[in-house]
Amino acid sequence: MENVNLKSGEFLVKDVEAKNIFIPEEFNEEQRMIAQSCRDFMEADVLPKLDEIDKGERQLMKDILKKSGELGLLGIAIPEQYNGFEQSFLTQMLVAEVIGAGYSFSVAFMCHCGIGTMPIMYYGNDDQRNKYVAKLATGELIGAYCLTEPGAGSDANSGKTNAKLSEDGKYYILNGQKMWITNGGFCDTQVVFAKVENDRILSAFIVESNWPGVVIGPDEHKMGIKGSSTTQIYYNDVKVPVENMLGKRGEGFRIALNILHLGRMKLGANVIGAAKQTITDSVRYANERKQFGSLLSSFGAIKQKLAKMAVKCYAHESAIYRVSQDVDILIDKYKSEGKDHGMAAIEGIAHYAVEDAILKVWGSEMLDFIVDEGVQIHGGMGYSAEMNVERAYRDSRINRIFEGTNEINRLLVVEAATKRAMKGEYDLFGPAEELYNNINNITDDKKAYESYFDKKRRYIKNFKKVIMLTVYSATQKFGRKFMREQEVVNNLSDLIMELYLAESTVLRVEKLEGLNGENPINKDILDVFVNDTAFVIFKNAKDAIYSITEGEEAEKLTEAIKTLTDIEGVNLMNKYRRIADKLIDDNEYKF
Ligand SMILES: Cc1cc2nc3c(=O)[nH]c(=O)nc-3n(C[C@H](O)[C@H](O)[C@H](O)COP(=O)(O)OP(=O)(O)OC[C@H]3O[C@@H](n4cnc5c(N)ncnc54)[C@H](O)[C@@H]3O)c2cc1C
Repeated sequence: MENVNLKSGEFLVKDVEAKNIFIPEEFNEEQRMIAQSCRDFMEADVLPKLDEIDKGERQLMKDILKKSGELGLLGIAIPEQYNGFEQSFLTQMLVAEVIGAGYSFSVAFMCHCGIGTMPIMYYGNDDQRNKYVAKLATGELIGAYCLTEPGAGSDANSGKTNAKLSEDGKYYILNGQKMWITNGGFCDTQVVFAKVENDRILSAFIVESNWPGVVIGPDEHKMGIKGSSTTQIYYNDVKVPVENMLGKRGEGFRIALNILHLGRMKLGANVIGAAKQTITDSVRYANERKQFGSLLSSFGAIKQKLAKMAVKCYAHESAIYRVSQDVDILIDKYKSEGKDHGMAAIEGIAHYAVEDAILKVWGSEMLDFIVDEGVQIHGGMGYSAEMNVERAYRDSRINRIFEGTNEINRLLVVEAATKRAMKGEYDLFGPAEELYNNINNITDDKKAYESYFDKKRRYIKNFKKVIMLTVYSATQKFGRKFMREQEVVNNLSDLIMELYLAESTVLRVEKLEGLNGENPINKDILDVFVNDTAFVIFKNAKDAIYSITEGEEAEKLTEAIKTLTDIEGVNLMNKYRRIADKLIDDNEYKF
């Protein structure tokens, strides 16, 4: 692959050509076959057992995980030498999408394959990989990740779990308590984060659940993902052999954060599978249920809902596979520079910190929107536990809380993007200052003739200018401490997220047209999304500007952002109807 892609966050200042992004329509035969074998597994072993799974019987979930291991699905990110069949990051994300339609199973699977296994794969030495990863890859062992404590949630480094070197220097004696541990009830191995003696920074350890002193609590009673085991785990003088420290002493916090980058990316892919499933369930219901003598799917209000659901899902999917290729390119580059296999992978993933936070927040909120409208389309039946959409509604909610809450991830979007710019990785503040100094002369550079995609690219360029102006105003007003003004940071974050999603959708539709010829429905989707984006950009920029400045300056900035977000109107009603009609004809989400 040619390395033409951008660094993390650089999309704020640079444009990408459509030919350089990956779109999901480009998955090759092998990738489609892998996805299909995951689908077959889900249809045979997971979907028929959803009610049983949600009763929370620990052995059942463990058995299904083991079965997926026998089929090789747990080893998709693991090299052959450790019993895996490592695939590209793109393929891993495709698998995560398919598994995402598996409700509680999806949470158990992703926890095991991601945060439960990959810290050992990426940061473990050969002995640790041979002893643990080779069995985690097949499902012989099931993994968990133990970071959160009663007093340490979002502030993960503040945990009190402690590891003290034994007098003979052979063990760390582990004491403490973890909570909210996914797969807690049946895991065999745990990656546990604890501070060694009086260290300020966490270290990481591999702990086996059957060691003396490890006490696993009962399953929590939760709002959703009821089949996913979530427990507290207590460590009472647990003797952890020194060779089970993962990475170096004090490296645990970095390991924990880097693994969360992976978790966020994968969550971003999971929610696509869940979203497509709910859209399909909703359109099928609307195609069967009659009221006032007509099918629900014939009503404009229902078509509008279906179309909005599909548009959001399509946009998110465009962004997910765009960044997945960026990650693959970077991993290949790191490998070619001689980096250890595991390091190349995790550093390639962690580099895209801006994008993974965007996709975690946007994706989880997209899914919440879709399941909420899905329940609404089902009416009273949407409130009945008989329907999958009821489960989908409850199960979706956790995505905004774990892998870093959406509040924390919104802060990370802005912090990561501006830090990189401040470090000189790309020039955000130079062009921003120039724009700000020419605030009275801002135009939208509309050409006399422009093609459909020229126009969309102009909009995207203009949205970037709005973001530059707003970021510049915030940093001018509050200086380096602007991250403390969280209300404004939230506006900046929403601006950046919306831009990334809109640009990814433009690039996908443009590339697809180049490959397959014109597709009016895809253009409808794009028109609807960009139309919404312009309003979201205008609102967030204006809200931020009036929180930052006042009087004439605020008026001038608002005038500029108005010019830059003043896009051509579209007939939304017709576009919603066309998008919905495709869903209705297909009787499923098939874009
Ligand atoms: C079902 C489930 C499964 C989980 N699985 C695991 C697991 O396998 N392993 C694991 O280690 N953990 C796991 N977690 C824990 C999860 O990651 C935490 O719940 C999450 O990080 C939030 O921490 P908290 O619950 O302590 O909330 P808090 O940190 O107390 O946050 C409460 C609220 O305050 C906000 N907030 C906090 N700090 C700030 C700030 N600086 N600025 C603005 N707002 C802020 C938060 O966004 C949130 O809205 C799981 C949790 C659940 C519910």
